[in-house]
Amino acid sequence: SETLERHAFGAEVGRLLDLVVHALYSEREIFLRELVANAADAVDRRRFAALTEPALALPAEAKVRIRPDKAARTLTVSDPGIGMSKEDLAQNLGTIARSGTRAFSQSLADAKPDERPSLIGQFGVGFYSAFMVADRVEVTSRRAGTDEAWTWASEGQGEYTLAGATREEPGTDIVLHMKADADEYLEPLRLETIVRKWADHITVPITLLRDGEEVPGNEGTALWRKPKQEITEEAYTEFYRHLTHNFDTPWATLHWRAEGALDFSALLFIPAMKPFLAVEEERESRVRLHVRRMFITDEAGLLPSWLRFVQGVVDTEDLPLNVSREMLQATPVLARIRRAVTAKVLSELKSRAKDAEAYAPFWQAFGPVLKEGIWEAAEHRDEVAGLLRFRSSAVEGWTSFADYVARMKPNQEAIYILVGDDTAALAHSAQIEGFRARGLEVLLLSDHVDAFWPERLDKFDGKPIRSITQGSDDLSAFAPEGEAAGEAADLTELLPKLKEILKDDVADVRASQRLVESAVLLSASSGGPDLQMQRLLRRAGR
Ligand code: ADP
Ligand code: MG
Repeated sequence: SETLERHAFGAEVGRLLDLVVHALYSEREIFLRELVANAADAVDRRRFAALTEPALALPAEAKVRIRPDKAARTLTVSDPGIGMSKEDLAQNLGTIARSGTRAFSQSLADAKPDERPSLIGQFGVGFYSAFMVADRVEVTSRRAGTDEAWTWASEGQGEYTLAGATREEPGTDIVLHMKADADEYLEPLRLETIVRKWADHITVPITLLRDGEEVPGNEGTALWRKPKQEITEEAYTEFYRHLTHNFDTPWATLHWRAEGALDFSALLFIPAMKPFLAVEEERESRVRLHVRRMFITDEAGLLPSWLRFVQGVVDTEDLPLNVSREMLQATPVLARIRRAVTAKVLSELKSRAKDAEAYAPFWQAFGPVLKEGIWEAAEHRDEVAGLLRFRSSAVEGWTSFADYVARMKPNQEAIYILVGDDTAALAHSAQIEGFRARGLEVLLLSDHVDAFWPERLDKFDGKPIRSITQGSDDLSAFAPEGEAAGEAADLTELLPKLKEILKDDVADVRASQRLVESAVLLSASSGGPDLQMQRLLRRAGR
């Protein structure tokens, strides 16, 4: 037709499509999970948009419909959701929008061919998974609030077309022209099983066309509203995977109901592995806010950013269903929920930290994020400090401030830390020679954030925390042990000469008790930033 426009896919989409379609036959059914999830998201988004723009209101019985047609060999997934404009179609379906998808596509390319199927099954790849079962996909969509409809179509071979279309109501139809070997996905019973497995907790009703009749496909119960004892481990894990797109089993599952002054249910997870979507980059908590089961937003900041690795749902009775963005910002309810949820997560971490072995994987995955709490949250500073773990010059594995304090020498006043880029290098640094020779333990810190947070934490358990590259610590109270216990050299002639030579480069040249084998080391002045901070500032060009 005249209005048919041809477009090439973004380069990454082309590569992803190719991998998805060719790498996999065992887990094809997840395409339906992905399409239904998108449809349900679209319904939620329209409901939310209608709060500020009533004209966008959903029809009375908004539902996602799945319709197989054996004769035509098509499977159609329809939703009355927010819909997509022509630009949305090109943008959302023609390029990779989600950074997680991008990371996934990379890992898929890196994986050995026989590892790919399970990778795909575990992650899901969004809309493009449709091409696992279909050799042609047509998406007809009308954006809510407009009267134009467009059809996006592709055979998953590097290009897609866009053409003008008609659609009576806002929403989206996804029509899959099934591949010859994908007959099973035209069978209502098979489809029903898949929907039950993947979509039971989706709160938007899903119906399935069977023998000319629309039958309910999902239970639509909100898992977090069920009593704990009715939920199996598998159900929690399934929900977690659906919610997060992760494939692991959660490290922690927190499910509780608060009643009384505040009324909310919360179901939160801490992943066992660092998700692809690097937590360092995503700065805000994405815990979902529901009001009486209805999804409202995942941008309510229900947890502080230094707990952003926690994922899940908070569902409250204390807000009206038609809560607007402005209202969300102004209401004290959210602040109170946030306080309660933060306290719960911290107390869970505290109790789990008692088991060092079980705590270590968590620490390894999310420790750097948690450390930001020291910098950002004065009210939780001491609590977070208790959760920190470190490498040390004196012991193997992870250690805590509390353990360090228990090992301190009787006359030792400060907790010594050394910050750098790499703990193995720090362990051999000239900076710690003098400490090691005196049996003084030094904590070795090498996360990016380690350059910052110690500035905000003056003390732990009353002991000052001191960067050993800063100032000249008086170590004379501690006798060197072993070979290091020799005579100190006489530097009375050398020092003035060195000072003269280096006068433009350094503030002072001093004899130091901190050296044993090395001849010299650099030290920062006691008032200013420590050496690692100076390095970072230099790198940042200051
Ligand atoms: P994700 O859902 O993780 O963002 P997808 O590949 O599943 O990734 O979908 C890409 C984007 O396409 C979605 O973010 C959404 O903007 C849009 N989209 C997909 N399906 C629909 C739909 N049924 N209605 C409206 N928008 C949709
Ligand atoms: Mg999706």
